[in-house]
Amino acid sequence: FYIYFVYSYLLVIWAAILNFIFFVQSKGLYKRQALVVFLGSVLPLFASMSFAFFGLDLVPKLDETIFAFLFSGILFSIAIFRYQTLQVLPVAHQLILDRLQEGIIVTNRYGHIVQINPSAARVFGLNSKVDVGKEISKVLSDWPALHNQTNIQAESETEISINIGGHQNFYILTQTPIIDNRNNFVGFVNLIKDISARKLSEIKLKHLATHDPLTGIYDRRHFYELAEREISRADRYKHSLGFMICDIDHFKQINDSYGHLVGDGVLKAFADHCSLNLRKSDIFARFGGEEFVILMPEISQDDLFFAGEKIRRLVEDKVFKIEGNEIRFTLSLGLYFREGGSNVSLLECIRKADKALYISKDTGRNKLSIWEASKKEETASAH
Ligand code: GH3
Ligand code: MG
Ligand code: MG
Repeated sequence: FYIYFVYSYLLVIWAAILNFIFFVQSKGLYKRQALVVFLGSVLPLFASMSFAFFGLDLVPKLDETIFAFLFSGILFSIAIFRYQTLQVLPVAHQLILDRLQEGIIVTNRYGHIVQINPSAARVFGLNSKVDVGKEISKVLSDWPALHNQTNIQAESETEISINIGGHQNFYILTQTPIIDNRNNFVGFVNLIKDISARKLSEIKLKHLATHDPLTGIYDRRHFYELAEREISRADRYKHSLGFMICDIDHFKQINDSYGHLVGDGVLKAFADHCSLNLRKSDIFARFGGEEFVILMPEISQDDLFFAGEKIRRLVEDKVFKIEGNEIRFTLSLGLYFREGGSNVSLLECIRKADKALYISKDTGRNKLSIWEASKKEETASAH
């Protein structure tokens, strides 16, 4: 009897302690439920102890412990049926995961996929029935950010892009390490949020801020930014730079004869035509009105001259077809060659190319002039 007595007391006390720990650790709705379960587990203990040790016997010949168990049963029922936490929450969690717009991929500490929600399956073309259990580094080898398991201390964010049906989509990947209550790292929750819409409008805004809306080439402000960068690079590596300012001859007459809209069409067609005939490293921008600028990195003085002559001839020979009109026009150019290692500022380079342009205009148009250091500052040679 005593062995049984001690054994059952120990069991009940142990259960009560466990319930109490659970109550202390749990939160919200769980806490109330845990409290009810804890009370239910200590009630028979008190009843039985007061009878066994203090001889408290409210109703003679009746073991009050039995009634205490009855109340325990009622309390346990309340815990299960009233709060329903045990039944509702797992189902709710599953529903949330299934409906969530964000993708979720849970991995364990070995990098094996434990769960994929439908959004993540859609984004990465996965099948939750086939891919669960596989190593994430093999299944999603194209996205190393997803299987980088080095940061197990803190949440980390990375931007990733995925090509879906020819469209580039952008996502923020938030990796949250899962730490169990013994402080062990047990895996990761990877949350994948689609930021394509925001990213696209950022790209559009950036394009608007750096490009001329009519011709689609760089605007003057962005040209200065890129050109300053080129000058620093040229100074570092002692490279030469070529500057070219092009101005359409008698453009006012085109506007006057065909109207402003056709004039706009001419500017756009000219920019397209030039872009096609320039190198990728050349920086081509609309400087304002019918004036354009081209910066050619790592070019010799002769090649700068030839490049200018090529553009002049390309325009001279071309018949631009704008809204049913066949339009021909010519170009005047001003060139400045900045030698590697010289310390001429960007504004000075532009000023010198501009001076050369005025020589071209003054000496008959449809020609190019190059500013030459050997002559006096105010002169340039026309060709
Ligand atoms: P020049 O040979 O001396 O360069 O003569 P030009 O007529 O080309 O030069 P001018 O500077 O006298 O006139 C430039 C004209 O370009 C005046 C302006 O109305 C026109 N223009 C400037 N920006 C635009 C534009 O965005 N669209 C159109 N259609 N015309 C423009
Ligand atoms: Mg002009
Ligand atoms: Mg002009």
